[in-house]
Amino acid sequence: MLHKMLQLAGQLTSRGKLSILIYHQVLSEFDPMRPTEPTAQMFDWQMRLLQQYFTPLSLDQALHHLKHNTLPPNAVCVTFDDGYLNNLTVAQPILAKYAIPATVYIATAFSTGRNMWNDRLIHLFAAQSRQQLQLDDEQVQLGDWQDRRNKAQQWLKQLKYLPLAQRLDKIDQFYRQNNADEQAALMMSPAQIKQLADCGVTIGAHTVNHPILKVIPEQQQRQEINQSKQQLESWLGSPVQHFAYPNGAKNTDFDDITVKLVESNGFVSAVTTDWGISTADTSRYQLKRFTPWDKTAGHFHLRLIKNASGF
Ligand SMILES: [Zn+2]
Repeated sequence: MLHKMLQLAGQLTSRGKLSILIYHQVLSEFDPMRPTEPTAQMFDWQMRLLQQYFTPLSLDQALHHLKHNTLPPNAVCVTFDDGYLNNLTVAQPILAKYAIPATVYIATAFSTGRNMWNDRLIHLFAAQSRQQLQLDDEQVQLGDWQDRRNKAQQWLKQLKYLPLAQRLDKIDQFYRQNNADEQAALMMSPAQIKQLADCGVTIGAHTVNHPILKVIPEQQQRQEINQSKQQLESWLGSPVQHFAYPNGAKNTDFDDITVKLVESNGFVSAVTTDWGISTADTSRYQLKRFTPWDKTAGHFHLRLIKNASGF
C-alpha cells in the first residue's frame, strides 16, 4: 500500500499524467460509522494542499490537455460520486475558497428523498438505541463502533451483488423486522443539484438506480445510462457529458458492453474506480481514479510529492 503510494507520488510529479481523486461525502463532523470519509476540516487541508502544490483542473480542461498532450505537471481533478447533499453544503464552500474545480456524478433516483441502500443499511447498524438486529432469521449482536462497522460491512458485501429489486426488498424487510425509522434525506434534490451547478461545479451522470451495470441486461443498462443523463439535463437545462460507472471496477462492475453504451450515448468521458493515473493513451471512457490519502499516510504521501517536485 505504502509502496503503491510512493510509486504514485513519483508518477504524479511527471508531466502528462492526470490524477483524478474520488470522494463521496464530506462530513460536517466525524461519523464513527464512516471513519474514512473526510470531515470538513480534513477536506479543507486537502484542498489547500491541492491549491498549493498541484494544478487542479476541471474535467473538461483535463480532457482537452490529455487530447493535446499538454497536461501541466501535478494535474489533478476532484470528483464526487452519488450526489450527497453535503457536497453542496460542506464541500462546495471549501472548493470555492481554494478555487478548485470539481465534478459531481449523480444517481438520479435518489434525488427525491430516498436514500441509497448502503446508507440505509449502515443506519440500521448505527442506532445507539439498538443492541441487536434481526436480519432475516439471524440475530446480530451490536457492540462498539468497530463491531457495528465490521458487521455493517459484512452485510453490505453480502447484499451488494444481489439483483437491485431483491436488494431493496431486503432492506425494506430489515427495516420492518427491526421497526426502524428512515433517516433524513442524505442526497441532493433537483433544485440543490441545480444550485451546485450554478456554483460552477460540473454535474455528471451515475445512472438512475446505481445498479451494478455488468449484471443487468444490455437494454436495462442503456436505460439506466440514458435516463440519468436526460433527467439531469432537464433539471439543469444544459448538457450532461460525463459519466461515472457505479461501483466502478472494470470487469466486475462494468465491461466493454457498458463502455460502448456510454460512448454511443453522447458522453465525452467516463470514470472508473480502478486505481491509477490517466495519460493520453488512456481511453477517455475508462479514466482511472484513486481515493485520496487518509489521515496519516496523507501527510507522508504529500510531503514526498512536495519534495520530489522541488518545492
Ligand atoms: Zn456510486
